[in-house]
Amino acid sequence: MERSVIVTGGSRGIGRAISLGAAKAGYQVCVNYAHNAAAAGDVVSEIEATGGKAITVQADMTKEADILRMFETTDRELAPLAALVNNAGIVDTASKVEGMSLNRLERMFTTNITGPFLCAREAVKRLSTAHGGKGGGIVNISSVAAKLGSPGEYVDYAASKAAIDTMTIGLAKEVAAEGIRVNAVRPGVIYTDIHASGGEPGRVDRVKSMVPMQRGGEAGEIADTVLWLLSDKSSYVTGSLIDVSGGR
Ligand code: NDP
Repeated sequence: MERSVIVTGGSRGIGRAISLGAAKAGYQVCVNYAHNAAAAGDVVSEIEATGGKAITVQADMTKEADILRMFETTDRELAPLAALVNNAGIVDTASKVEGMSLNRLERMFTTNITGPFLCAREAVKRLSTAHGGKGGGIVNISSVAAKLGSPGEYVDYAASKAAIDTMTIGLAKEVAAEGIRVNAVRPGVIYTDIHASGGEPGRVDRVKSMVPMQRGGEAGEIADTVLWLLSDKSSYVTGSLIDVSGGR
């Protein structure tokens, strides 16, 4: 049966690996992006080259109207929705709390928790067996920062990811009887552009000595766990927060 998945921030880094992996697993993929249309287009081309189906949808996770349009476009252009991966997220430059402006905090929380919350709401409307859907899966990309707290650097980011963990636990219980499983994956340090956007391109190499496995992770190592959570192989797993962090 044909089915689709929305991957927010599916154009780069971890989201890109998830989009490509989902297509291999047979999903039609909505590759969401905010700014970088070319990167999203590359992901779609790669999926189409192997016979899959995918679309790009520009939608800023800080804007409710964009999120609604993303779901409506997916409804119209792809197979029925079976899964959502709330992956899009941002970090800001390392700062102690005294340096965190209201503007920074609002941007952080709107992108990292309000957007995923609205996406989960729209997904539940479509997946719920109680509303005529067939059930499905939601995976939220959190971070090990949610438990470490990231003192002196990214306490705002860590708090936004702790919020997504709690949303995962609560929502999983709320929708379990409707055939929807909700889980979170908490990456450790992974080689992607997000560290450059946080003003520290070499961060993975700086912190890898703090990782018991003594290395940064690859985006594909996160995607593999996400795809397992969306598959029937994890059919009794819901409300779980799974660290994929080399033991950190
Ligand atoms: P990247 O910076 O490499 O990619 C971010 C992606 O999110 C891009 O596709 C970007 O699209 C999209 N995005 C950013 N802001 C928005 C927005 N407002 N609306 C829609 N899309 C947006 O990040 P990563 O792949 O590293 O991170 C993915 C997730 O994993 C995030 O939630 C992050 O917090 C989490 N994570 C990452 C870790 C790491 O070490 N890399 C560690 C722990 C968690 P565009 O290019 O168009 O801007």
